[in-house]
Amino acid sequence: MTAEYHPNICTECGKPIILGARAKTCSEKCRRARLRKQKRLLYEKNRGTDHFKAQQAKAVARRKERRATDPEFDAQAAEAGKKAVIKAVAKRNADPDRRADQLKKMRDWKASASEEQKEKMREANRRWYAELSPEAKAALIAEKSEKRRQRNAAKKAQEPQRA
Ligand SMILES: [Zn+2]
Repeated sequence: MTAEYHPNICTECGKPIILGARAKTCSEKCRRARLRKQKRLLYEKNRGTDHFKAQQAKAVARRKERRATDPEFDAQAAEAGKKAVIKAVAKRNADPDRRADQLKKMRDWKASASEEQKEKMREANRRWYAELSPEAKAALIAEKSEKRRQRNAAKKAQEPQRA
């Protein structure tokens, strides 16, 4: 039997697998996609457990410790964090549904949060903003003024025309 008649098909894209008898996927790309899905499933399954939470807390503590003692690592982590924020904001803004969903969650949270919780949030926001790079701050400000411009334009369009 030649490889072409192999009965297995790729779990990711459905193409026949000609790599080997035990392969689950047809290519490196599909193999990675499958691994990602498996990791995601594992995460979904374990995220609520005490063991997982303990492991996460340990990892966070280790990272904090390293950031405190290794200036080079700290600088790299700070840079990566800023880039991740810019990327996440861009991704979120590109999806209006996700943005609307997030805004609704934020409104719901605000409606039910205590004054102490709100102050904690404001403090975290201030800290977050203070640590942003000048470019990221400029991007945020530009985004806000563009939104304001759009809102005003929409308002103007709705106003009755005055003679
Ligand atoms: Zn495939």
